Amino acid sequence: MANPKRYEVNQNGKILNRMAWMMAPGKLELIESPLPELAADEVLVKIKASAICGSDLHLFNGKHPSVKLPTAVGHECAGVVVELGSAVDGFQLGDKVTIEPNINCGHCEACLHGDYGYCENISFTYRVGKGAMADYIAVRQDKVFKLPGSMPFEEGALIEPLAVAVHAVRRADIQMGEDVLVIGAGAIGIFVAALCKLRGSGSVVISDRSEERLQTALRLGAKSTLSSKELAEHLDQAKSKRFDKVFECVGVDQTLSQAMRSAKRNGLITVVGIFEQGEASIPATLFASHEIRMQGSQGYCWDFPVAIQMAEQLDLGVMVTHKFPLSEVQKAFDLAVDRETYKMKVILEP
Ligand SMILES: [Zn+2]
Ligand SMILES: [Zn+2]
Repeated sequence: MANPKRYEVNQNGKILNRMAWMMAPGKLELIESPLPELAADEVLVKIKASAICGSDLHLFNGKHPSVKLPTAVGHECAGVVVELGSAVDGFQLGDKVTIEPNINCGHCEACLHGDYGYCENISFTYRVGKGAMADYIAVRQDKVFKLPGSMPFEEGALIEPLAVAVHAVRRADIQMGEDVLVIGAGAIGIFVAALCKLRGSGSVVISDRSEERLQTALRLGAKSTLSSKELAEHLDQAKSKRFDKVFECVGVDQTLSQAMRSAKRNGLITVVGIFEQGEASIPATLFASHEIRMQGSQGYCWDFPVAIQMAEQLDLGVMVTHKFPLSEVQKAFDLAVDRETYKMKVILEP
């Protein structure tokens, strides 16, 4: 039962929870409702920081390839454990935690093999009405990960996108001395570049059209940068350097084709970007003749603990450019989609 000293409760003793919903493209609403009873295997987390993700902006634009509106929003968060289900062990009230927001079924073939990222019935907390842009979130204890006590909440909220990058870099099997190109300096691209450097890559070049984003990438660990124009010029010269491993972190036709043109023969391309258009064309002749290898990477599977470890070697704080109270969620999204303002991570604080 909820402890009234700890929570705000209504007259029935139910905890009141504000949660942001995307009602229609460009339109957010904070909806307040009582929290349901905690299940035996669930942990209740009081959210302290929640970050806006690139995929939330696809939702905002009404162009997310696999989610329909209205939907709750928010899946990058950190907070404090405030209530434990009756069967939970290994957690204590007051633990600082982050949440892996995917929900796997536990009984399909992939889940039974431990490949829960490939779960045939996979869903996400926000898609089932448990958004993290809220006061509270109740989640299964196996999806809750403890954070170091010294980590600020806003950095803890970035463990989720860092886990996406960890997953991509592990899939790309980066070896010492390999030359890496990352196309797209959004949060994921910047994290991928930083992790490749920690993994011992030779050159780690990152490309983007925003000079400010490239500067942030350098601060986090990329070794050198190319503007989009410079990358295009670089690729037009037959003799210029090509890369062992390339990450596509944008999700449009043009950058996918650039990724293929920038790889060495037998190079490996890892596609991380979300494509609003479901299909893209590729330079097929080059693909075959250069024996280019290409793979996708999405989400995470056993990557959260690694992301938490790697975070200790990264200055995640430089990624946070804006903070808003949860009550200003609409304003925060309006800013996040505004192409004129430089922003990296926009944080909401309940
Ligand atoms: Zn995300
Ligand atoms: Zn499953």
